[in-house]
Amino acid sequence: MQTITKRPFGTCTLGDIDCITLDNGKGMTVEVITLGATLRSVTLPNQNGTPTDVALGYDSPTQYLAEKAYAGGCIGRYANRIGYSKFTLNGTEYHVTANQDNTHHLHGGNGYDKRLWQCDIQEHGAVFTLQDKHMEDGYPGNVDVSVTFALTDDNRLDITYQGQCDATTILNMTHHPYFNLNGHDSGSVGEQYLRINADFYTPADDAGIPTGEILQVAGTPVDVSTTAQLSTYIQNPALTVTRGLDHSFVLPCTNGAPFAWAWSKDSGIGMEISSTQPGVQAYTAGFFGDQVGKGGAQYHNHCGFALEPQIFPNAPNFAHFPSPVITPETPYIQTISYQFYSQVNW
Ligand code: BGC
Repeated sequence: MQTITKRPFGTCTLGDIDCITLDNGKGMTVEVITLGATLRSVTLPNQNGTPTDVALGYDSPTQYLAEKAYAGGCIGRYANRIGYSKFTLNGTEYHVTANQDNTHHLHGGNGYDKRLWQCDIQEHGAVFTLQDKHMEDGYPGNVDVSVTFALTDDNRLDITYQGQCDATTILNMTHHPYFNLNGHDSGSVGEQYLRINADFYTPADDAGIPTGEILQVAGTPVDVSTTAQLSTYIQNPALTVTRGLDHSFVLPCTNGAPFAWAWSKDSGIGMEISSTQPGVQAYTAGFFGDQVGKGGAQYHNHCGFALEPQIFPNAPNFAHFPSPVITPETPYIQTISYQFYSQVNW
């Protein structure tokens, strides 16, 4: 039987934080905390039946507030980068928080991952809500945001993102879990495999700001359409600026079909990701740094990978990129699903 329960997770300067556990009664559990609507753990049996937590995370709210890797956090108002921290909407130029090198805007500035959310446990899932205020971090319009987590009997985590604004604005949400399919505390993900169904990417400058081009991945160091171990990217001298993958890929469709597969031959655990979003940022955590994680785990660069479905970075400044604009009449809705398997042979 499925259960959703709530327990205290500690206190920080934002207040008391709760941890919500979704348990599908079939061996899989997922934890989400009200600080940042953060996905704190994803546990399922590996091929030997050993419960394995495949998501990186921390043991206290203060660690989550202090960390800078966005581990597990819900990202908004605008996921990824806005070049030079500005964009124009209906003839007005808006300036958002310049939190990357004091120049560019990354992951919403003082974003959704560092805010206190409300959580309502409903029959179909755990519903997290946040009121994002007009001009907070520089964005126009109030937005009522909700993120619903539901876990199916067959080990699929469905996340539904909704946003209702009171004035024309932009919204681009995602989650930023770092997965390690051998277990969050098992070191480098270099030997794990990835394939993304993407033929195109949006090349970027050294600060990660897209140039506006949309180019084929074929023949480049980031041809993720071919199965490869993540070490292929991490060790490629052509990818030293990003220390592996930190690239935005164009997804072939937005109908919620699976677009990425990752797996480990050591644990047998595999995951398949689907989404309605038009793009995905794939990041092999080259800048994660040295941190102490759950249960004292030692985290270092490349100890996880993130696959963040989203609208393309810097889309507010490119008319030919998918539009992040929402209006009171055209609210925001997107979905991301992670289907997990305990034993794959891909
Ligand atoms: C970005 C990286 C960044 C990481 C953590 C990713 O989504 O693309 O450049 O270092 O998030 O901040």
